[in-house]
Amino acid sequence: MQPNQPPSLLADFKESCKVCEGSGRKLGYLEIDTLQPHLSQKCFQCQGRGYTLTQLGEDLLELYRPAIQQWIREELARADTR
Ligand SMILES: [Zn+2]
Repeated sequence: MQPNQPPSLLADFKESCKVCEGSGRKLGYLEIDTLQPHLSQKCFQCQGRGYTLTQLGEDLLELYRPAIQQWIREELARADTR
């Protein structure tokens, strides 16, 4: 692992959606949504992302949300002073 890079833990936070098996689509509709894009056939479980957060991922997101928001505020403030 590179010392200056954050550890790549994303794989621990995400898992392939069990409902659509990672395709992001509802099973049974195949390619019909490419012909009819206004009819959303996104997988209800993952909203078309093809993956869901693991419990660990959700817990950490909740835990770090205040820190992330603070970090964003600092970045915005820094951009303002340029
Ligand atoms: Zn899905």
